[in-house]
Amino acid sequence: MTFETLGGVLTPGAVLTFECAGCGHGAAWPAARAIRRFGAFAPPYDVRNRARCGACGGRRVRVFVQPAP
Ligand SMILES: [Zn+2]
Repeated sequence: MTFETLGGVLTPGAVLTFECAGCGHGAAWPAARAIRRFGAFAPPYDVRNRARCGACGGRRVRVFVQPAP
């Protein structure tokens, strides 16, 4: 899924999910946490650049947005 900024797509209830390409570790952050961490105006490439795997420390992390149900 593509998106312009976190604040534009992470409506309340949406979840930002991460999946490490190195070890497969996954994480899911509620919208509020992701916006606190990355900023509401962060574009997707910035989020990908800053994301780091919590398990292996790898930088190749895929980022997905799960819209609010
Ligand atoms: Zn990893």
